[in-house]
Amino acid sequence: MLNKQGRQTDITTASEFAVGSITTHSGNMGLEQQELLIYEIGDTERTGVDLEGIKDFENRLGGITRDNEIGLAGLSEPEAMRHYTRLSRMNYAIDMGLYPLGSCTMKHNPRLNEKVARLPGLGDIHPLQPKSTVQGALEVMDRLAHWLKTLTGMPAIAMSPKAGAHGELCGLMAIRAALDKRGEDRSIVLAPESAHGTNPATATLCGYKVQSIPATEDGRVDLHALKDALGPDVAAIMLTNPNTCGLFERDVIEIAEAVHSIGGYFYCDGANFNAIVGKVRPGDLGVDAMHINLHKTFSTPHGGGGPGAGPVVLSEALAPFAPVPYVIHGENGFDLVEHVEDGSDSFGRMTAFHGQMGMNIRALAFMMSHGCDGLAQVAEDSVLNANYVMASLTDVMTVSFDGPCMHECLFDDRFLNGSDIATLDFAKAMIDEGYHPMTMYFPLVVHGAMLIEPTESESKQSLDQFIGSLRHLVAEAKAGNKELFIGAPYLAPLRRLDETLAARKPVLRWTKPE
Ligand SMILES: *Cc1c(COP(=O)(O)O)cnc(C)c1O
Repeated sequence: MLNKQGRQTDITTASEFAVGSITTHSGNMGLEQQELLIYEIGDTERTGVDLEGIKDFENRLGGITRDNEIGLAGLSEPEAMRHYTRLSRMNYAIDMGLYPLGSCTMKHNPRLNEKVARLPGLGDIHPLQPKSTVQGALEVMDRLAHWLKTLTGMPAIAMSPKAGAHGELCGLMAIRAALDKRGEDRSIVLAPESAHGTNPATATLCGYKVQSIPATEDGRVDLHALKDALGPDVAAIMLTNPNTCGLFERDVIEIAEAVHSIGGYFYCDGANFNAIVGKVRPGDLGVDAMHINLHKTFSTPHGGGGPGAGPVVLSEALAPFAPVPYVIHGENGFDLVEHVEDGSDSFGRMTAFHGQMGMNIRALAFMMSHGCDGLAQVAEDSVLNANYVMASLTDVMTVSFDGPCMHECLFDDRFLNGSDIATLDFAKAMIDEGYHPMTMYFPLVVHGAMLIEPTESESKQSLDQFIGSLRHLVAEAKAGNKELFIGAPYLAPLRRLDETLAARKPVLRWTKPE
C-alpha cells in the first residue's frame, strides 16, 4: 500500500518488514544514495586535475619540502560534486521539514538575512582592515548592541562571545572579576537540576563548585531549597528563564532579591529568550548577566548558515568588568576599544577579533525586518504553537507538568509504560515518519523526557501533520506494534547506530586499509 507521498506504508508486522530487509548491491536505497568517505571513493594515485609540472622552477623551501605522498583523495570534478551533494542530502535541515528539537529553537532562517550577510561590504571585509574602511560593519555591531540592550532592559553588553556557552563563560568571568574587586573569594554557584549541561560546565571551568537546586512538583525551582542554599560563599545562581521544562519561573523576582541579599549575582541563561522577546525585559527581573543565543532567538539555528553567537547583557553592577573589544562612538566615527585601558576593571579579552560578524548581521536583519511589534509576535506565536502541540497530544501522551507551557512542551515516557518501547525507540520511529526527533532525555528532571519546540515558523497545517504522525505512532505503540519501534528507523539509509560509542570513541582519522 502506498500513502499520499507514494511511500510504502503497510509495514506492520515483523515478517512484513520488506523495506527494511532489502539489501542492495550499491548500499543505495531507492534514490537515497549511500555515500562512502571521500578517501574510499578517491584514489591517492589519481589526480582530478591535469596540471603540467612547472618548468624552470627553483625550490626556495630550504630543505623543508615534503618528501612523502600528500595522501589526498584524487577525484574528478563530477565525482567531487556528487560526493558533497550526496552528503548534503543525508543531512536533515530546517529547510527540509519541521525540526522540533526542544531547547534549540530551530526556526526558519529568512533568506533576506543571508542576502544581507553576503553583501560585499559586510561579507568580504577583514577584522584587521583600517577602521575607517569598516564603519558600516562597526555601525551594525553598535546598532545590534543597542537593540539587544533595549530588548533586555540592560545597560551594557559584551558582543564578542561566540556561542551561548561562551556567553556563560563571559558572564561568570565578569562575576568573578566583580567579586575579586570586592576582595571576596566565594566558591559556590547554584544551578537548578533542570539546567542545561553548559551551566554547570561553565561554573566548573571558572573554578566554582556547583550546587544543584531541586525542582518542585510543578517543574520550577524550589524556592525554599534555594533560600536554604544561599550563604556568604555563594557567588551566583545560574537560572534559565523560561526554564528547560518550557515553564516560566514565577518566583524569579524573589529569587533575584534573595541572591542579591547575600551579595551574590544572578546569571540568567537566556537561550530561551525566544519565548519572551518583546514581552518581558530580563533587566526588570533583577538579572545581572544573561547571554542571548543570536542563533536561536534571532534565527539562523545551529548549522543553518554558520556559527552561533552569544552576546551577554550586563547589569550596572557588572558593566565595568565587560571584556574588550567594544564599539564606541569616537571622534572620527565608530571606533573599537581593543585593549584594557589603565584603571579599567575589564576582565580582558575572550576572542581573537570582535565576535561573529555574520551572525550579528543576520540577527540585526531579523530584528529590523520584524520590528518591535513583530518581535513580540515571535514570542506570542512560538508560545501559541507549543501550546497547540501540547493540547493536541495531552489525551494520548503524558504531559510532564500541568498548565500552559511557554515556547516548548515537555512530555515523558509514562504513556509508553508496559509497551516495552523506550523514548529512544519512539524517537527513531519518528525518523521513518520523516521527522527529526524531538530533544530526548533532557531535561533530566523527568524520566524519558521528550521536549518539543515547534517555534513560530510552523504553520497550523504543518503542526497538524506532525501531530498526526505522533498520534499514529502512539496508537501503534499502544496496539503493541513493538516491531515498528525497536528496529526503527527502517526507511533511513543507515539504521541504528551505536551513538554512545560514536560519542565516546569517535573515529576521527581515516587510515588506509592494509
Ligand atoms: C542552547 C543552549 C545553551 C548553549 O548554547 P550554545 O550556543 O549551544 O553554546 C545553553 N543553555 C540553554 C538552555 C540552551 O538551550
